[in-house]
Amino acid sequence: MGITVEHLYKRFGAFTALDDITLEIRQGELLALLGPSGSGKTTLLRVIAGLEHADGGRVLFEGGDATALPVQQRGVGFVFQHYALFKHMRVDQNIAFGLKVRRGKARWPRARIDARVRELLSLVQLEGLEKRYPAQLSGGQRQRVALARALAIEPKLLLLDEPFGALDAQVRRDLRRWLRQVHQATGVTTVFVTHDQEEALELADRVAILNKGRIEQLGTPAQVYDQPASPFVYGFVGQANRLAGTKVGTQLQVHGQWLPLPAGVSLSDGPVELFVRPQDLRLVEADQPGWMATVVDVPRSGPHVRLHAQLADGTPLELELPAATQVPPVGSQVHVQASRFGVFQTG
Ligand code: ATP
Repeated sequence: MGITVEHLYKRFGAFTALDDITLEIRQGELLALLGPSGSGKTTLLRVIAGLEHADGGRVLFEGGDATALPVQQRGVGFVFQHYALFKHMRVDQNIAFGLKVRRGKARWPRARIDARVRELLSLVQLEGLEKRYPAQLSGGQRQRVALARALAIEPKLLLLDEPFGALDAQVRRDLRRWLRQVHQATGVTTVFVTHDQEEALELADRVAILNKGRIEQLGTPAQVYDQPASPFVYGFVGQANRLAGTKVGTQLQVHGQWLPLPAGVSLSDGPVELFVRPQDLRLVEADQPGWMATVVDVPRSGPHVRLHAQLADGTPLELELPAATQVPPVGSQVHVQASRFGVFQTG
């Protein structure tokens, strides 16, 4: 089901948690809401679910206004960070819960419920554990039960709020891969909240980046990483060096170097800030254009060489260089060039 969120506002007293959010969630996509703590991710999810009322704006399900529709009628499945499994129910009973509470014509015959539970146990790879109680499962297994329970009712929309937030790094990585497979198998439109950029970039078809109740950027993982739309996105998704400069006509003056203003960027003349990813900085010969910097530290990290340097005025630079690079010693002078950068107005 495609969902449209139009000009949503949500205030808690004098605090604006959602500030004019407009968003199109496409049928069948896996969309991540990524942002720092307090940016409004959970609030947006709760408004979409119908658990929270907006102060302004609309939520459309398949084009129809769902703003006034109660939670039960939205056909939404949820999974939250802290597993809300029923402790006194076995795994199979937890999964069947949403089907068993149905009444009247909506109620499925027992054999059909049992078949659905078996199908879901297989989907979430928990066959053989159906008679256990939640306390007899690991954290990752409990979250898989929670997902199976959310999927049991065949929701048109699945909402996941930091579903792996409470689990350790390795389990999180495994579950991420697994969630992607489950999504491919079911095709359910899914929105998941995370503050972990790696999780969002690896898992999602598209990522909405939230900051202070607003969407800073909506795009594919590649778009938000390669073409950040704002200084905030540059800093939040991946790392970036920041260099102060001045725009003069079609040129940028940055720490004594002249650089061309990238095509398609429109800025007024005046102070700007350059954002350069560590992997977009490279060492060049002294006769080439570049910044003169002093090497401060060369920590090794995985397959790359990290190099920390600073410009004459103390501005720090971080470079990520191919592993084969001849590492210059600490204290030496290097010449640094940016192969790619973003530039934004300051002041
Ligand atoms: P986190 O990653 O920490 O869960 P989040 O991006 O999901 O953060 P929200 O939970 O949506 O953020 O909260 C957004 C802001 O609204 C926060 O500053 C929070 O304190 C505030 N807020 C949320 N719910 C309420 C409430 N019921 N009453 C008052 N303030 C609230």
